Amino acid sequence: MQDGFGRKIDYLRISVTDRCNFRCQYCMSEKMTFMPRSELLTLEEITLIAERFIGHGIRKIRLTGGEPLVRRDMKDVIQRLGRKVASGELEELTLTTNGSLLSDYAEHLAVHGMRRINVSMDTLDPARFAEITRGADVNIVLDGIRAASAAGIQVKINMVALRDFNEADLVPMAEYCADNGHDLTIIEAMPLGDVGADRKLAHISAEDFLAPLRDLYTLSSLSHSSAGPARYVSVEPLGLRLGMITPLSHNFCDDCNRLRLTTDGKIFMCLGHSAHVDLRAAIRKDGIASVDQLLQQALKLKPLRHDFNAQLEGSAKILERHMNVTGG
Ligand code: SAM
Ligand code: SF4
Repeated sequence: MQDGFGRKIDYLRISVTDRCNFRCQYCMSEKMTFMPRSELLTLEEITLIAERFIGHGIRKIRLTGGEPLVRRDMKDVIQRLGRKVASGELEELTLTTNGSLLSDYAEHLAVHGMRRINVSMDTLDPARFAEITRGADVNIVLDGIRAASAAGIQVKINMVALRDFNEADLVPMAEYCADNGHDLTIIEAMPLGDVGADRKLAHISAEDFLAPLRDLYTLSSLSHSSAGPARYVSVEPLGLRLGMITPLSHNFCDDCNRLRLTTDGKIFMCLGHSAHVDLRAAIRKDGIASVDQLLQQALKLKPLRHDFNAQLEGSAKILERHMNVTGG
Protein backbone atom coordinates (compact mmCIF):
# COMPACT_ATOMS: atom_id res chain seq x y z
CA MET A 1 0.00 0.00 0.00
CA GLN A 2 1.15 3.51 -0.80
CA ASP A 3 -0.39 6.80 0.19
CA GLY A 4 -0.86 9.82 -2.07
CA PHE A 5 2.69 11.00 -1.28
CA GLY A 6 4.36 7.70 -2.15
CA ARG A 7 4.91 6.59 1.44
CA LYS A 8 4.76 2.84 1.97
CA ILE A 9 2.09 1.91 4.52
CA ASP A 10 2.68 -1.37 6.32
CA TYR A 11 1.97 -0.61 9.98
CA LEU A 12 -1.46 -0.67 11.65
CA ARG A 13 -2.24 0.44 15.19
CA ILE A 14 -5.47 -0.88 16.63
CA SER A 15 -7.11 0.76 19.62
CA VAL A 16 -9.05 -2.17 21.07
CA THR A 17 -10.82 -0.22 23.82
CA ASP A 18 -11.14 3.39 24.95
CA ARG A 19 -11.43 2.28 28.59
CA CYS A 20 -8.59 2.39 31.06
CA ASN A 21 -7.95 1.65 34.72
CA PHE A 22 -5.64 4.72 34.98
CA ARG A 23 -6.49 8.39 34.42
CA CYS A 24 -3.17 9.88 33.30
CA GLN A 25 -3.51 13.64 33.50
CA TYR A 26 -2.25 14.32 29.97
CA CYS A 27 -4.49 11.66 28.45
CA MET A 28 -7.87 11.67 30.20
CA SER A 29 -10.01 13.83 32.42
CA GLU A 30 -10.79 12.52 35.89
CA LYS A 31 -14.38 11.76 34.98
CA MET A 32 -14.06 10.30 31.51
CA THR A 33 -17.12 9.02 29.78
CA PHE A 34 -16.50 6.00 27.59
CA MET A 35 -18.27 4.73 24.50
CA PRO A 36 -21.20 2.38 24.84
CA ARG A 37 -19.94 -1.16 24.30
CA SER A 38 -22.07 -1.55 21.17
CA GLU A 39 -19.88 1.07 19.47
CA LEU A 40 -16.71 -0.95 20.01
CA LEU A 41 -15.50 -3.27 17.29
CA THR A 42 -16.21 -6.86 18.24
CA LEU A 43 -13.53 -9.52 18.41
CA GLU A 44 -14.72 -10.84 15.05
CA GLU A 45 -14.66 -7.39 13.44
CA ILE A 46 -11.14 -6.68 14.71
CA THR A 47 -9.91 -10.01 13.38
CA LEU A 48 -11.64 -9.63 10.01
CA ILE A 49 -10.37 -6.09 9.47
CA ALA A 50 -6.84 -7.07 10.51
CA GLU A 51 -6.89 -10.02 8.08
CA ARG A 52 -8.11 -7.82 5.26
CA PHE A 53 -5.38 -5.26 5.96
CA ILE A 54 -2.72 -7.95 6.15
CA GLY A 55 -3.94 -9.05 2.71
CA HIS A 56 -3.27 -5.49 1.49
CA GLY A 57 0.28 -5.36 2.86
CA ILE A 58 0.15 -4.56 6.58
CA ARG A 59 3.13 -6.33 8.18
CA LYS A 60 3.13 -4.97 11.72
CA ILE A 61 0.27 -4.52 14.14
CA ARG A 62 0.41 -2.77 17.49
CA LEU A 63 -2.49 -3.19 19.92
CA THR A 64 -3.18 -0.17 22.04
CA GLY A 65 -6.03 1.79 23.62
CA GLY A 66 -7.13 2.94 26.20
CA GLU A 67 -5.61 0.14 28.15
CA PRO A 68 -5.75 -2.88 25.81
CA LEU A 69 -5.44 -5.42 28.61
CA VAL A 70 -8.69 -4.29 30.29
CA ARG A 71 -10.72 -5.53 27.32
CA ARG A 72 -12.54 -8.67 28.45
CA ASP A 73 -11.85 -10.78 25.38
CA MET A 74 -8.30 -9.49 24.96
CA LYS A 75 -6.75 -12.92 25.36
CA ASP A 76 -8.78 -14.05 22.33
CA VAL A 77 -7.74 -10.98 20.30
CA ILE A 78 -4.10 -11.76 21.02
CA GLN A 79 -4.51 -15.44 20.29
CA ARG A 80 -6.21 -14.82 16.92
CA LEU A 81 -3.73 -12.21 15.73
CA GLY A 82 -0.87 -14.29 17.12
CA ARG A 83 -1.79 -16.99 14.58
CA LYS A 84 -0.90 -14.54 11.82
CA VAL A 85 2.58 -14.20 13.28
CA ALA A 86 2.90 -17.98 13.51
CA SER A 87 1.87 -18.32 9.84
CA GLY A 88 4.38 -15.67 8.76
CA GLU A 89 1.68 -13.36 7.32
CA LEU A 90 2.46 -10.80 10.00
CA GLU A 91 6.05 -9.90 10.86
CA GLU A 92 5.24 -8.49 14.23
CA LEU A 93 2.45 -8.17 16.78
CA THR A 94 3.13 -5.74 19.61
CA LEU A 95 1.34 -4.00 22.43
CA THR A 96 1.44 -0.69 24.28
CA THR A 97 0.24 -1.07 27.85
CA ASN A 98 0.28 0.70 31.18
CA GLY A 99 1.66 -2.53 32.65
CA SER A 100 -0.87 -2.85 35.46
CA LEU A 101 -2.23 -6.21 34.25
CA LEU A 102 0.96 -7.58 32.76
CA SER A 103 1.59 -10.06 35.54
CA ASP A 104 -1.60 -11.88 34.46
CA TYR A 105 -0.90 -11.61 30.74
CA ALA A 106 2.85 -12.10 30.33
CA GLU A 107 2.78 -15.85 29.62
CA HIS A 108 -0.18 -15.55 27.26
CA LEU A 109 1.53 -12.80 25.27
CA ALA A 110 4.74 -14.79 24.98
CA VAL A 111 2.96 -17.98 23.91
CA HIS A 112 1.09 -16.12 21.16
CA GLY A 113 4.08 -14.64 19.43
CA MET A 114 4.58 -11.31 21.14
CA ARG A 115 8.29 -10.64 21.35
CA ARG A 116 8.38 -6.94 22.25
CA ILE A 117 6.01 -4.64 24.11
CA ASN A 118 6.00 -1.01 25.24
CA VAL A 119 5.12 -0.15 28.82
CA SER A 120 4.31 3.45 29.74
CA MET A 121 5.83 4.72 32.98
CA ASP A 122 6.56 8.41 33.51
CA THR A 123 8.37 8.14 36.85
CA LEU A 124 9.62 5.48 39.28
CA ASP A 125 8.69 7.65 42.22
CA PRO A 126 5.55 6.14 43.84
CA ALA A 127 4.04 9.47 44.89
CA ARG A 128 4.56 11.18 41.54
CA PHE A 129 3.36 8.05 39.71
CA ALA A 130 0.15 8.10 41.76
CA GLU A 131 -0.23 11.81 41.04
CA ILE A 132 0.18 11.63 37.26
CA THR A 133 -2.01 8.51 36.89
CA ARG A 134 -4.51 9.73 39.50
CA GLY A 135 -4.06 6.87 41.91
CA ALA A 136 -2.11 3.97 40.38
CA ASP A 137 0.65 1.98 42.12
CA VAL A 138 4.02 1.96 40.35
CA ASN A 139 5.05 -1.27 42.12
CA ILE A 140 2.31 -3.22 40.35
CA VAL A 141 3.63 -1.95 37.02
CA LEU A 142 7.20 -2.89 38.00
CA ASP A 143 5.99 -6.41 38.91
CA GLY A 144 4.28 -6.65 35.52
CA ILE A 145 7.45 -5.60 33.70
CA ARG A 146 9.43 -8.25 35.60
CA ALA A 147 6.85 -10.89 34.62
CA ALA A 148 7.08 -9.89 30.94
CA SER A 149 10.88 -10.03 31.00
CA ALA A 150 10.78 -13.42 32.73
CA ALA A 151 8.50 -14.67 29.94
CA GLY A 152 11.16 -13.65 27.40
CA ILE A 153 9.44 -10.49 26.12
CA GLN A 154 11.60 -7.45 25.41
CA VAL A 155 10.20 -4.39 27.22
CA LYS A 156 10.64 -0.81 26.12
CA ILE A 157 9.61 1.92 28.54
CA ASN A 158 7.71 4.99 27.26
CA MET A 159 8.09 8.12 29.38
CA VAL A 160 6.16 11.30 28.57
CA ALA A 161 8.27 14.44 29.14
CA LEU A 162 6.39 16.87 31.38
CA ARG A 163 7.83 20.28 32.21
CA ASP A 164 8.08 21.02 35.95
CA PHE A 165 6.96 17.50 36.76
CA ASN A 166 9.25 14.59 35.90
CA GLU A 167 12.55 16.11 34.70
CA ALA A 168 14.34 14.82 37.81
CA ASP A 169 12.97 11.33 37.18
CA LEU A 170 14.85 10.85 33.92
CA VAL A 171 18.24 9.84 35.36
CA PRO A 172 16.81 7.20 37.75
CA MET A 173 14.59 5.91 34.92
CA ALA A 174 17.55 5.68 32.51
CA GLU A 175 19.60 3.81 35.12
CA TYR A 176 16.71 1.45 35.92
CA CYS A 177 16.27 0.69 32.20
CA ALA A 178 19.98 0.09 31.68
CA ASP A 179 20.17 -2.20 34.73
CA ASN A 180 17.19 -4.26 33.53
CA GLY A 181 17.91 -4.39 29.80
CA HIS A 182 15.01 -2.17 28.69
CA ASP A 183 15.16 0.48 25.98
CA LEU A 184 13.70 3.85 26.94
CA THR A 185 11.72 6.27 24.77
CA ILE A 186 10.95 9.86 25.69
CA ILE A 187 7.69 11.20 24.21
CA GLU A 188 6.91 14.88 23.90
CA ALA A 189 3.46 15.63 25.28
CA MET A 190 0.96 16.24 22.49
CA PRO A 191 -2.14 18.46 22.62
CA LEU A 192 -4.89 15.86 22.31
CA GLY A 193 -8.38 15.93 23.72
CA ASP A 194 -9.81 18.12 26.42
CA VAL A 195 -8.46 16.54 29.58
CA GLY A 196 -9.59 19.16 32.06
CA ALA A 197 -8.07 22.22 33.69
CA ASP A 198 -5.51 20.29 35.72
CA ARG A 199 -3.80 18.85 32.68
CA LYS A 200 -0.08 18.29 33.15
CA LEU A 201 0.68 19.21 29.62
CA ALA A 202 3.32 21.91 29.98
CA HIS A 203 5.39 21.15 26.91
CA ILE A 204 9.14 20.59 27.09
CA SER A 205 11.19 19.54 24.10
CA ALA A 206 12.85 16.14 24.37
CA GLU A 207 16.22 17.91 23.88
CA ASP A 208 15.67 20.10 26.96
CA PHE A 209 14.28 17.18 28.93
CA LEU A 210 17.52 15.25 28.33
CA ALA A 211 19.72 17.92 29.96
CA PRO A 212 20.10 16.18 33.38
CA LEU A 213 21.13 12.96 31.62
CA ARG A 214 23.64 14.80 29.45
CA ASP A 215 25.23 16.28 32.59
CA LEU A 216 26.11 12.78 33.80
CA TYR A 217 26.50 10.67 30.67
CA THR A 218 27.64 10.86 27.04
CA LEU A 219 24.86 10.86 24.46
CA SER A 220 25.61 10.09 20.81
CA SER A 221 23.31 9.67 17.82
CA LEU A 222 22.54 6.18 16.56
CA SER A 223 21.32 5.24 13.12
CA HIS A 224 19.05 2.46 14.50
CA SER A 225 15.52 2.71 13.21
CA SER A 226 12.36 0.83 14.21
CA ALA A 227 8.91 0.73 12.65
CA GLY A 228 8.01 3.78 14.73
CA PRO A 229 8.83 7.50 14.55
CA ALA A 230 11.59 7.59 17.19
CA ARG A 231 15.16 8.90 16.74
CA TYR A 232 17.79 7.17 18.85
CA VAL A 233 20.87 8.02 20.91
CA SER A 234 23.19 5.79 22.92
CA VAL A 235 23.82 6.73 26.54
CA GLU A 236 27.32 5.75 27.66
CA PRO A 237 28.76 4.25 29.75
CA LEU A 238 25.26 3.17 30.80
CA GLY A 239 24.86 1.07 27.65
CA LEU A 240 21.29 2.38 27.18
CA ARG A 241 19.52 2.95 23.87
CA LEU A 242 17.27 5.95 24.22
CA GLY A 243 14.62 6.95 21.69
CA MET A 244 12.89 10.29 21.31
CA ILE A 245 9.46 10.84 19.80
CA THR A 246 9.41 14.52 19.00
CA PRO A 247 6.27 15.42 17.06
CA LEU A 248 6.54 19.06 18.07
CA SER A 249 10.25 19.87 18.01
CA HIS A 250 11.19 17.67 15.01
CA ASN A 251 8.51 16.67 12.60
CA PHE A 252 8.71 12.96 11.77
CA CYS A 253 5.99 12.73 9.14
CA ASP A 254 8.20 12.25 6.07
CA ASP A 255 8.52 8.53 6.58
CA CYS A 256 5.25 7.86 8.37
CA ASN A 257 4.18 4.31 7.52
CA ARG A 258 1.05 3.88 9.61
CA LEU A 259 -2.70 3.80 9.79
CA ARG A 260 -4.79 3.81 12.97
CA LEU A 261 -7.94 1.82 13.58
CA THR A 262 -9.97 3.41 16.35
CA THR A 263 -11.98 1.66 19.03
CA ASP A 264 -15.18 2.37 17.10
CA GLY A 265 -13.86 1.18 13.76
CA LYS A 266 -12.72 4.36 12.04
CA ILE A 267 -9.47 4.54 10.13
CA PHE A 268 -7.49 7.66 10.94
CA MET A 269 -4.53 8.34 8.72
CA CYS A 270 -2.79 10.64 11.19
CA LEU A 271 -2.89 11.17 14.95
CA GLY A 272 -2.88 14.91 14.30
CA HIS A 273 -5.70 15.16 11.72
CA SER A 274 -9.40 14.50 11.81
CA ALA A 275 -9.78 13.01 8.29
CA HIS A 276 -11.04 9.45 8.54
CA VAL A 277 -13.19 6.73 6.99
CA ASP A 278 -15.77 4.72 8.91
CA LEU A 279 -15.13 1.00 8.44
CA ARG A 280 -17.48 -0.19 11.16
CA ALA A 281 -20.53 1.44 9.59
CA ALA A 282 -19.60 0.03 6.18
CA ILE A 283 -18.91 -3.49 7.45
CA ARG A 284 -22.13 -3.62 9.47
CA LYS A 285 -24.08 -2.44 6.43
CA ASP A 286 -22.31 -4.01 3.42
CA GLY A 287 -20.01 -6.70 4.81
CA ILE A 288 -16.25 -7.04 5.04
CA ALA A 289 -15.56 -6.60 1.30
CA SER A 290 -16.44 -2.90 1.66
CA VAL A 291 -13.14 -2.47 3.52
CA ASP A 292 -11.11 -2.71 0.30
CA GLN A 293 -12.55 0.38 -1.35
CA LEU A 294 -12.55 2.39 1.88
CA LEU A 295 -8.93 1.54 2.43
CA GLN A 296 -7.99 3.03 -0.95
CA GLN A 297 -9.98 6.14 -0.01
CA ALA A 298 -8.15 6.29 3.33
CA LEU A 299 -4.74 6.11 1.66
CA LYS A 300 -5.63 9.11 -0.51
CA LEU A 301 -6.70 11.06 2.59
CA LYS A 302 -3.44 10.59 4.48
CA PRO A 303 -2.05 14.10 5.01
CA LEU A 304 1.59 15.03 4.45
CA ARG A 305 2.07 16.30 7.99
CA HIS A 306 0.35 16.64 11.36
CA ASP A 307 -0.47 20.15 12.59
CA PHE A 308 0.19 19.89 16.31
CA ASN A 309 2.36 23.00 16.28
CA ALA A 310 -0.49 25.13 14.96
CA GLN A 311 -2.64 23.69 17.72
CA LEU A 312 -0.13 24.50 20.43
CA GLU A 313 0.25 28.03 19.12
CA GLY A 314 -3.50 28.43 19.34
CA SER A 315 -4.11 28.90 15.64
CA ALA A 316 -6.03 25.65 15.40
CA LYS A 317 -8.40 23.92 17.73
CA ILE A 318 -7.01 21.25 20.02
CA LEU A 319 -8.05 17.95 18.48
CA GLU A 320 -11.17 16.74 20.14
CA ARG A 321 -10.22 13.12 19.84
CA HIS A 322 -8.60 11.63 22.89
CA MET A 323 -5.50 9.49 22.54
CA ASN A 324 -7.34 6.57 24.15
CA VAL A 325 -9.81 6.35 21.27
CA THR A 326 -7.34 6.83 18.45
CA GLY A 327 -4.65 4.79 20.15
CA GLY A 328 -1.27 6.17 21.19
N1 SAM B 1 -2.78 2.59 28.07
C1 SAM B 1 -1.62 2.26 27.32
C2 SAM B 1 -0.42 3.00 27.81
O1 SAM B 1 -0.57 3.96 28.56
O2 SAM B 1 0.68 2.63 27.40
C3 SAM B 1 -1.78 2.44 25.83
C4 SAM B 1 -2.49 3.64 25.34
S1 SAM B 1 -1.71 5.20 25.68
C5 SAM B 1 -2.86 6.34 24.98
C6 SAM B 1 -0.34 5.14 24.57
C7 SAM B 1 0.80 6.09 24.83
O3 SAM B 1 0.33 7.40 24.61
C8 SAM B 1 1.34 6.06 26.25
O4 SAM B 1 2.74 5.89 26.20
C9 SAM B 1 0.99 7.42 26.79
O5 SAM B 1 1.95 7.87 27.70
C10 SAM B 1 0.94 8.26 25.55
N2 SAM B 1 0.13 9.47 25.66
C11 SAM B 1 -1.15 9.61 26.09
N3 SAM B 1 -1.56 10.89 25.99
C12 SAM B 1 -0.52 11.59 25.49
C13 SAM B 1 -0.30 12.95 25.15
N4 SAM B 1 -1.25 13.87 25.31
N5 SAM B 1 0.91 13.29 24.64
C14 SAM B 1 1.89 12.36 24.46
N6 SAM B 1 1.75 11.07 24.75
C15 SAM B 1 0.57 10.68 25.26
FE1 SF4 C 1 -4.76 4.99 30.35
FE2 SF4 C 1 -2.61 4.87 28.79
FE3 SF4 C 1 -4.18 7.06 28.79
FE4 SF4 C 1 -2.71 6.53 30.91
S1 SF4 C 1 -1.93 7.00 28.85
S2 SF4 C 1 -4.89 7.11 30.94
S3 SF4 C 1 -2.69 4.37 30.98
S4 SF4 C 1 -4.75 5.06 28.11
